[in-house]
Amino acid sequence: MSALPPCPQCGSEFTYQDGANLVCPECAHEWSAAADAPADTVRVYRDAAGNVLQDGDTVTVIKDLKPKGSGGVIKQGTKVKNIRLVDSDHDIDCKIDGFGAMSLKSEFVRKV
Ligand SMILES: [Zn+2]
Repeated sequence: MSALPPCPQCGSEFTYQDGANLVCPECAHEWSAAADAPADTVRVYRDAAGNVLQDGDTVTVIKDLKPKGSGGVIKQGTKVKNIRLVDSDHDIDCKIDGFGAMSLKSEFVRKV
């Protein structure tokens, strides 16, 4: 029934959780449950000022951006509504009036 990982020291499956630690009843080994957390833990997205961004936020662009493949410039101060966070280099998916679907970097925006 337990989803806890086996003891890394002796392989016992009778590990149990004690606060933030996992404990093995057979060899008394204790280790941090957090250290065993999967690598794909939730990524935190931050804007240029360090504010945490979330899906649906409205942000403004903090510098002129020249999107690839487009002749135009997204002006500093352009408001971008309803952003969607994605796990990639350009980590914000959004739509900008006059440009359409766009990918931005969170370091170039500021939460409104
Ligand atoms: Zn053990």
